[in-house]
Amino acid sequence: MNETADIRDLYRRTVIDHSQHPRNFRRLADASATAEGHNPLCGDKITVYLRVGDDSIDEIGFEGVGCAIALASASIMTERVAHKTTAEARRDIESVMRQFDRGEAGAAPAEGDMAALSGVRSYPSRIKCATLAWKTLAAALAGDNQAVTTEDQ
Ligand code: ZN
Repeated sequence: MNETADIRDLYRRTVIDHSQHPRNFRRLADASATAEGHNPLCGDKITVYLRVGDDSIDEIGFEGVGCAIALASASIMTERVAHKTTAEARRDIESVMRQFDRGEAGAAPAEGDMAALSGVRSYPSRIKCATLAWKTLAAALAGDNQAVTTEDQ
C-alpha cells in the first residue's frame, strides 16, 4: 500500500470511529448556551450544548442525527474546543470555515482529526455536513437561539 492509500485509509477509519463512537455525545443539563443546527439537504440535525465559565468552555456536548460526516465533524469539534477560551474556539471556527466553506486557496490544511474530513471539500453538498456543527457552535457562542440552517433563508 502506498503512502497516499495509507493516509486515505487512516482518514476513513478516523471518520468511521468518530461517527460510530461520537465523543461528548450528551446533553448538558446545566448548559449555559445551546444552539440547534439543521442541514436540510442531508437531514443532519445537531444540538450543541456549552457550559461556559470565566470565558472558557468548561464543557461541551452535542446530540443529534446525521450522516457520518456530520457526526464525525461534531465529535472532532467537541474534542478540539473543550477547555479552550471562547476566543480560541472562535479562531478554530474561523479556520474551519476558511478551509471547508470558503475553500480559500492557500488556506492551511485542516488540523488534527479535521484533516480526515478534508476529502469532502471536493463535494460541495458534503461540505455543509462538515461545517454544520461548527456553525452551530458559533451560534451557541454568540448566544443566538435561532436555529442555524446551512441554507439561506
Ligand atoms: Zn450530512
